[in-house]
Amino acid sequence: MNVLVINAGSSSLKYQLINVETRNLLAKGVCERIGDEESFHKHGLDSNESVISTPMKDHDEAIAMVLKTLVEGEDAPIDDLSQIDAVGHRIVQGGKYFSKSTLIDDDVIAKIDEMAELAPLHNKAALQGIQACRHHMGDIPMVAVFDTSFFQTLPPKAYMYPLPYELYEKYAVRKYGAHGTSHRYIAERAAALMDEDLSDVKLITCHLGNGCSVSAIDHGIAVDTSMGMTPLDGLMMGTRCGAIDPAIVTFVMEHEGLSPQEMNDLMNKKSGLLGISGISNDLRSIRDASSAGHERAMLAYDMYSNSVKKYIGQYMAVMGGVDAIVLTAGVGENCKKMRRMIFSGLQPLGIVLSEKRNAEGRGEREISHDRSSVRIFVIPTNEEYMIARDTYQIVHDKLGSELQEDDDVTWW
Ligand code: ADP
Repeated sequence: MNVLVINAGSSSLKYQLINVETRNLLAKGVCERIGDEESFHKHGLDSNESVISTPMKDHDEAIAMVLKTLVEGEDAPIDDLSQIDAVGHRIVQGGKYFSKSTLIDDDVIAKIDEMAELAPLHNKAALQGIQACRHHMGDIPMVAVFDTSFFQTLPPKAYMYPLPYELYEKYAVRKYGAHGTSHRYIAERAAALMDEDLSDVKLITCHLGNGCSVSAIDHGIAVDTSMGMTPLDGLMMGTRCGAIDPAIVTFVMEHEGLSPQEMNDLMNKKSGLLGISGISNDLRSIRDASSAGHERAMLAYDMYSNSVKKYIGQYMAVMGGVDAIVLTAGVGENCKKMRRMIFSGLQPLGIVLSEKRNAEGRGEREISHDRSSVRIFVIPTNEEYMIARDTYQIVHDKLGSELQEDDDVTWW
């Protein structure tokens, strides 16, 4: 089954066409600056990428462009749109409604719209992507895969905030988490690499990219995660502050004369690595500056690693131990210096990084020392594959008899 995976942002639209049974990536690309005069479309697999400047006034035009590219031209991966069997949409916020991925119908669309209050830019963009696919692909089956659904298993003691209970009743103020599809993928892969059942292991999964989050996954069930009602909570990130003393918010607003929106921007866009270093939100620039002795860059590095270290300790306490810690995303996959700092000093907890393994290798790998009782893995995330797989399973379950597909797919 070929699944088109769509990840629509407010001014961008990423896509991949994946054959789920073979795990073959048939095409991928991104439309950027949608709605802008300078909009462009990048398409192609790594060595063969082309960039075309082309007007796209909205997501509808972007989808039309993507579909045209998939069937036309020399390298077109398919001859006809009928070779796309289903579409999987990444949705950031499913709120209380969705504890798993689901087939899209009018009711699902209405609920995604309702949940847009918690993630306005993202959910509205996803809805535009869904409507555009409906417009251009007719009644093709579509599945919504939510970043939040993996965390619907959190117990109330983890998802409630110690605020007046009425705020939860009135506005559903609670933790929802984010990056769930990534945490789910690396947890499943880690269990496979350990040759264990996910339901037999305790894992701490760390998604360390521009946005960062850590999760505690106890015997396959997410029991806590660092992002909160919004993705601002938890770890220090590229431009987001993560958890801070909440009284700072009103203090800064009063002293700097900031509106709620301005304060929100300060915490989301001007803080984190960027705010502390004053250089960049990109860890590579901060690493170079800190190596050259830039004090604030060194401080940013120290704070970032300390922030991850503290969550590892917390989640070991929450689960009563851990079998493996898994790292993913730009920083987790690539930055050996940050990994060394995160795990330094954790030997008394049975967590021992191998300097040698940490310094070498690419792709999925174990980097813990043989004498570490907790295993440490680096696993490149693959949210798109997870979306394609969920889409396959849901469409196959619902429409199985109409599809001439092989039931017998092993996932890992
Ligand atoms: P997102 O998808 O959340 O935008 P990514 O997962 O691409 O983010 O991660 C981006 C972060 O990863 C940036 O801070 C970048 O500096 C960092 N990063 C990427 N490659 C490296 C590398 N080789 N060494 C250190 N940091 C890296």
